[in-house]
Amino acid sequence: MAYMIDTSTCTSCGACEDECPNKAISHKGKVYSINAKKCTECEGHFDTQQCAEVCPSGSCMPEAA
Ligand code: SF4
Ligand code: SF4
Repeated sequence: MAYMIDTSTCTSCGACEDECPNKAISHKGKVYSINAKKCTECEGHFDTQQCAEVCPSGSCMPEAA
């Protein structure tokens, strides 16, 4: 499983990008996205998903199964 960014609510604030221990978050212009192949849901690094912790708009969420 991986996290994803809801681009309809993301404000492109950039807060999540530097928090990811796997550097899974990047952006093209103002469109932020999570590379699902790199996202481990922070397992082994943190007890909580760091992108979701810092996101002011609740845009980082688990991918729909
Ligand atoms: S859940 Fe963790 S590993 Fe996945 S994108 Fe967010 S900060 Fe990175
Ligand atoms: S922290 Fe949230 S609002 Fe800011 S760029 Fe990341 S997903 Fe978008």
